[in-house]
Amino acid sequence: MQTIVIATHNQGKAREFARLLEPAGFMIKTLVDCGVTEVPHETGATFLENALIKARAAMEATGLPSLADDSGLCVDALDGAPGVFSARYGGFSSPKEQITHLLRQMEGQPNRTAAFVCQLVLLYTDGNEVSAEGRCEGEILLAPQGDGGFGYDPVFCVPSKNRSMAELTPEEKDGLSHRGLALRALLGKLS
Ligand code: IMP
Repeated sequence: MQTIVIATHNQGKAREFARLLEPAGFMIKTLVDCGVTEVPHETGATFLENALIKARAAMEATGLPSLADDSGLCVDALDGAPGVFSARYGGFSSPKEQITHLLRQMEGQPNRTAAFVCQLVLLYTDGNEVSAEGRCEGEILLAPQGDGGFGYDPVFCVPSKNRSMAELTPEEKDGLSHRGLALRALLGKLS
């Protein structure tokens, strides 16, 4: 069984990775498990650049192969915002305030299409890296619905389910989410 560290302090992401990777035979450690508190500056202009920054920092801090995810919500009517700034949209760090800010930006906007994007990088200690991307299309709701998931899930409607991402079961979310798609693509590249 291969041990890898998940390069995130976001517990929502860590939970989803454990759910998806442990059945595939990986032993998952989080940065918290490894006693790593330092957070690298995400100075990249793209999801891939930021995922690489996080993967390198986690590998250097733990000596373990690391899996980093940089992800976010890209809203068409907002020219792709919040995008790589999803975790600090409008200068807010709490998901509730970010959602309020997003809904304000979208007031009166008829085009509600958006996508969740996830870029993964698996970095081995010998410097080899494998990357994969996943994308999940949807629409921004007029008000939050549901209390599952994390982040922007309550305002992201999945058209095929006619429910918000926060109203799906964990298994339903894993089956269609940007992170689930990216992870399955990554695992396909390893076998
Ligand atoms: P980062 O990848 O840690 O820079 O931050 C990604 C941010 O995008 C999170 O803090 C959330 O706000 C948002 N995000 C990413 N994936 C999801 C998801 O699956 N559901 C809801 N929000 C997400």
